[in-house]
Amino acid sequence: MLEVIKPLQQLLSEKESFKQPGDASLLETPFLVVEEASLSRAQQGLTQRPTMSIRAKIIMGFFVLFLLCAGASITFYILGGRIDQKLKFMEAGSSFTFEIQQARRFEKNFFLYKTNLVDALENVQTARELLKIQEKDISAVIGKEKWQTMMAHIDRYEKLLDKLRNAKDVEGTTQESYGDIEGELRQHGAEMIALAMNLVQQERREVETLSKLSRQIPLVFLAVLLVLIIYLTHFLAQQIVGPLNRFVEYTRRIARGDFSPIQPAKRYKDEFSRLAIAINWMLDQLQKNQELYIQSRKMAAIGTLTSGIAHELNNPLNNICITTESLLDELEDLSDNEKKKRLRDIYAQAERAGGTVRNLLDFTRVDQPSFVAVSVQELLSSTLRLTKHEMELSNVDLKYLSAESGLLVQGDFGQLQQVFLNLIINAIQAMPRGGGLTISVREEDPDQVRIDITDTGVGIPQAIISEIFDPFFTTKEKGTGLGLSISYSIIRKHGGKILVNSQINHGSTFSVYLARSLGKRRSE
Ligand code: ADP
Repeated sequence: MLEVIKPLQQLLSEKESFKQPGDASLLETPFLVVEEASLSRAQQGLTQRPTMSIRAKIIMGFFVLFLLCAGASITFYILGGRIDQKLKFMEAGSSFTFEIQQARRFEKNFFLYKTNLVDALENVQTARELLKIQEKDISAVIGKEKWQTMMAHIDRYEKLLDKLRNAKDVEGTTQESYGDIEGELRQHGAEMIALAMNLVQQERREVETLSKLSRQIPLVFLAVLLVLIIYLTHFLAQQIVGPLNRFVEYTRRIARGDFSPIQPAKRYKDEFSRLAIAINWMLDQLQKNQELYIQSRKMAAIGTLTSGIAHELNNPLNNICITTESLLDELEDLSDNEKKKRLRDIYAQAERAGGTVRNLLDFTRVDQPSFVAVSVQELLSSTLRLTKHEMELSNVDLKYLSAESGLLVQGDFGQLQQVFLNLIINAIQAMPRGGGLTISVREEDPDQVRIDITDTGVGIPQAIISEIFDPFFTTKEKGTGLGLSISYSIIRKHGGKILVNSQINHGSTFSVYLARSLGKRRSE
C-alpha cells in the first residue's frame, strides 16, 4: 500500500508547485486541457473590451460636480458685476438728474430775475462731463444710441443757454425775444430729466430682479447639487457594490464545485475585470488540481483494494499452476478429451486473471470525460467486482435491489465508477466487524434514477455530517478526506445530487440522483 501512496504523495507535491497557469507539464495531460478553450474564450472576452475604469468614472463624477460649482461661481461673478455696473449707472444717473434739475432751477431764476445763467451753464457742463466720463458704463447699460440722444439733448440745452447769455449782452433784448429759447430750453430740460429718471427707474427694477435672482440661484444650485450627489453616490455604489455582489455569487458557485470561468458581464473593462481574470486563472488551477485529486483518490482506492486485487489474481494463477502441474504429471495417461478440458480450464483461469487486470487498467485510466448513456447495472457490477474480496474479508453481506435492470443514466463511466467505489469502500470501512451493504436502484421520477448505498455501520455523528463533503475532512487514521468531496463534485458535474442520511450505530445511506438517459448504451 505504501508503494502505491508514495508516488501519489509525489504527484500531490508536484501539483503544489504548479504556480503558472500555462505550465507545460500540466498541459501535456490530456484531461487537463479540456477547459482551456472555454477559459481562453472567457479571458479574451474579459480583456478585449474597451476600458472604462471605476477610477475614471469617479474622476468624471467629481469633474461634473466641479463644473457645476464652477458654473454657479461664474454666474455669481457675472451677476455681481452686472449689479455693480447698474448701481454705478444709477449713481451717475442720479447725479446727472441732479445737475440738470439745478440747471433748470437757475434757468427759471434767469427768466424771473435775470440771474444765475452762468450757474446753469456750469451745471450743464458738469452733467455733460458726467455723461462723458461714465460713457462706457452708461452705454453698457442703456446702449450707445440712448447715450448719444442724451448727449444731443445736453448739447442743444447748452447751446440754448449760450444763446441766452449772448442775447442778454446785446442791448435792447426784450423779454419777448427770449420766448422761443425758453420754450425750447424747457422742452430739452424736461426730456433729459424724464429720460434720465426713466432709465434710473428701469435700472432699479433690473437691479431688484438681479438681486432676487442672486438669492434664488444658491437655492437652485443646492437642489441641483443634492440631486447630482445622490445620483453620483448611487451610480458609484452600483459600480462597486454590483460587481461585489456578483463576485460573492461567483465564490458561492465555486464553493459548490462549479469551476466554469467567469464571463464578461458588462460592456466595459474595469478594475473588477482584472479580478475576474485572476479568479479565472485560479479556477483553472483548482480545476487542474481537482483532476489530480480524482486521480490520486483512484490510486488511494487501488491501495485500499490491493489485497483483494492480489487475491483476484492469485486464485486463477494458483489454479493455472495446479492444472498445469497435474497435466504434466498425467500427460501420458489422460485421454485427449481430458487434456483438452484441462487446457480449457487453464485458458479460462488466464482469462479471469486478464479480466481483473483489464478492469484495474480501465479504472486507473486517465481519460477525457465523455458523457454517454451508462447502464446502472453494469456500472455497479463492475465496481462491486473491484470490492468483492474486500467485502469477503470484512464479512459484509451484499444485497442488490433493482426495480428495473435496464436503467440508463447520462454520464462518464469512469467518473461514476469512481463515485460508487468511494461510497462502497466507505460503507465497508464503516462496518469493521461486518454487516450488511444494500445497493438499491430505482426510478425516482421519469427523469431521474436514484441509487442508494446503505450500510449498517457506525453511522456519522450529527456534529460532523455537514463537514464530510469538505476536501481533506477525514476521521480515519489513514484517510485522505477526498473521497466524498470528489464524489460530490463529480455528481454536481453530472447535474445530479448526493444526499446522506445517517443514524449513529445504525448505519448510513448515501443517495445518488442522476439524470436518466433514454439514449443508447455506450458501446464498450
Ligand atoms: P476518507 O474515506 O479518506 O476519510 P471521505 O471523504 O471518503 O474520506 O470521507 C470523509 C469522512 O466521512 C470519513 O472519514 C468518515 O468519517 C465519514 N464517512 C463517509 N462515509 C461514511 C459511512 N458510510 N459511514 C460512516 N462515516 C462515513
